[in-house]
Amino acid sequence: MPPSSEHRLVRVEDYAPFIGEEAVERILDKARPLQDLRVAHVNSTYYGGGVAELLSPLTLLMNSVGLLTEWRAIQGPSDFFSITKKMHNALQGGCLRFTRMKRRIYEEVVYQNAVRNLLDHDRVIVHDPQPLPLVRHSRKRGPWIWRCHVDLSQPLPELWDYLRPYVEDYDAAVFSVPEYAQSLKTPQRFFMPAIDPFCIKNRDLTEAEIDERLARYCIPTDLPLVVQVSRFDRWKDPEGVVRAFLLARREVPCTLVLLGNIANDDPEGQEVYEALLKHQEERVILLIREDTALVNALQRRAAVVVQKSLREGFGLTVAEAMWKGTPVIGGNVGGIRHQIQNGHNGFLVDSVEQCAERIVQLLKDPRLRERLGQRGRESVKRHFLLTRYLEQYLDLFAGFEARYLLKH
Ligand code: UDP
Repeated sequence: MPPSSEHRLVRVEDYAPFIGEEAVERILDKARPLQDLRVAHVNSTYYGGGVAELLSPLTLLMNSVGLLTEWRAIQGPSDFFSITKKMHNALQGGCLRFTRMKRRIYEEVVYQNAVRNLLDHDRVIVHDPQPLPLVRHSRKRGPWIWRCHVDLSQPLPELWDYLRPYVEDYDAAVFSVPEYAQSLKTPQRFFMPAIDPFCIKNRDLTEAEIDERLARYCIPTDLPLVVQVSRFDRWKDPEGVVRAFLLARREVPCTLVLLGNIANDDPEGQEVYEALLKHQEERVILLIREDTALVNALQRRAAVVVQKSLREGFGLTVAEAMWKGTPVIGGNVGGIRHQIQNGHNGFLVDSVEQCAERIVQLLKDPRLRERLGQRGRESVKRHFLLTRYLEQYLDLFAGFEARYLLKH
C-alpha cells in the first residue's frame, strides 16, 4: 500500500467493536501468508450498482491487510452494454434472442479489453457476465475466479449453455447463495456480499444531520416515510412499490420516496425512470441524486424500507437498511431470503397486496418496527459486514495454492 502520513484506510482492527478481537486476529492471521499477493478485480463499471459498491471498500480492505489489490473496469460501446444488460436479464429468467451479431459484439469487446488490460496477477476475480470471456485471452499466472452476483435461480438455458464453457475455464466460481449452484466442472463456492459500516452511506448520523439532508431535497417528514433505494430497474419492481404504497396509504397516511440511480453499464434505467414519472405527486417522490449521505438519511429516517425485488442476487440495500435498525420488507426471492427471516428481522412478500399489508402493519405498530429493526441490525453485525466477505476471499485464495501448483 503506498505510504501516506495524511490518509488512513479502514483496517480490519477498526471492526473490533462489531466483530470482536478474536475475529480480527483470525483474519489477520489468514492474511499474513498472503502478503504481497497481486490481486485484480475486474467488473464492468466503477459507478452504480452493488458490485461497484462492494468493490470500492473491498479492494481497499484487501490492500490494508497486505494484498496488492487492483480494480479494473472494462469499457465498450453502448451496443455492448445493451447486449450485456439483456444477458443479465436472461440469466435472471428473462428472454433473449442471442443472435450471431450479438455474440460477435460481446466477444470482440471483451477481447479488446483483454488487449488493453494486462492481467498477470496471482489471483484474478472477474465479476458478472460482462467481462466473463476475458479468461480466454489472458495468460494465467495464477487462479482465476468468476464471481457472479446475479440471481441464477432460473437462467435461460440457451444462454447458460453458451456461457458455461467460459465459466469452466475458471478455477473457481463464486455465487451468492447455494440455490444458484450450476452443473459445472469448475468448483463452486457461495459467499454473500456484505457492507462497509464506515462509509458515508452507512456511518452513524445525528437526527440533525438527517433533517438537514432531507430538507436539502425538500423531502417532507410530516408523515411516515416508505422508502425504496434502488437502481431504476424492472427487477426492482418500482411499479409494484408504487402500487403497494397507494393501497397502504388508504389506511395510513404516508409518503413514498423512490431514490434511484442509473448505472453506467445499465442502458435501461432511463426508460424505467421515465415510465414512473406518471406516478409523481406530492406524496410520491421520485429522485435521481448522487448523494450517498441522502441514501443514509433516508434509510435511517424511513419508517419502513422496501426492497420489492422480483429477482435479487443479494440486496445490498436490504443489508444497509437493516444495519440502521430500520425494518425492511423484501421481495421473497433470491438472496433476500437469506437476509430476512420473515417475521423475525423483517418481512418477505410475494405480491403487491402482501407488501401493502406489511407496510400498513408496520406503520401502525412502532414497537414491531423497533423489534424487527433491532434484530435486523444484529443480523447484519453477525453475518453481513465486510470482514466476513474478506475472510472468505482469503480462505479461497489460500486454498488454491497447493491445488493450483499441482495442476500447472
Ligand atoms: N444506490 C445508491 N443510490 C441510489 C440507488 C442505489 O447509492 O440511488 C446503492 C445502494 O445503496 C446499494 C447499491 O447501490 O449500495 C445497490 O446494490 P444492490 O445489491 O441493492 O442492487 P444492484 O444495483 O447491485 O442490483
